[in-house]
Amino acid sequence: VKLLLHACCGPCALLPIRTLREAGHTVTLLFYNPNIHPFMEFRKRLRAVELVGEREHVDVIEEDRYGLDEFLDRVGRGEGRCRRCYELRLSRTFRTAAERGFESATTTLLTSPQQDHECIRSMSEKLAEQYRVQFVYLDLRQRHREAQELARKYSLYRQQYCGCIFSEYERYRTVERGAEEGDR
Ligand code: SF4
Repeated sequence: VKLLLHACCGPCALLPIRTLREAGHTVTLLFYNPNIHPFMEFRKRLRAVELVGEREHVDVIEEDRYGLDEFLDRVGRGEGRCRRCYELRLSRTFRTAAERGFESATTTLLTSPQQDHECIRSMSEKLAEQYRVQFVYLDLRQRHREAQELARKYSLYRQQYCGCIFSEYERYRTVERGAEEGDR
């Protein structure tokens, strides 16, 4: 079955690719993540997904335009931000799957214990109906450590925060001033 797998990042893509292949799917990756900021971080994560594609011999459909404007216009900030962010990425995933003749679609966001799994699941179910593409549900949260190990083995870039400039601030706001100089 031809399946489109939305990839939020390289490390989260490895395990789903293998799991889906074992289940008989022919996987193509989609990189569409206007939520990743700033620009050099976006490039690093895009490159990590490309490397996964090369090493696993999987085609990658890339949206390589930096999407900060789109993210701020459509997602904004504050409460409900993550839901709108999922909506943006998942609706593009199911729409692309329908337009390009994929029979099914899913997302690597379902691998992460840090994401709102149930929200992603129910949103994907609705989009699958809307676009008449089958949603392949995955729950790899229990195997997140294994996914991280694989990423380490592949020397893939592993990000330190979810993606948007707001999550970057939330990740680092408690880091003491001056500590970042020691990181250089
Ligand atoms: S924290 Fe993550 S899921 Fe939430 S809006 Fe930012 S990038 Fe999107």
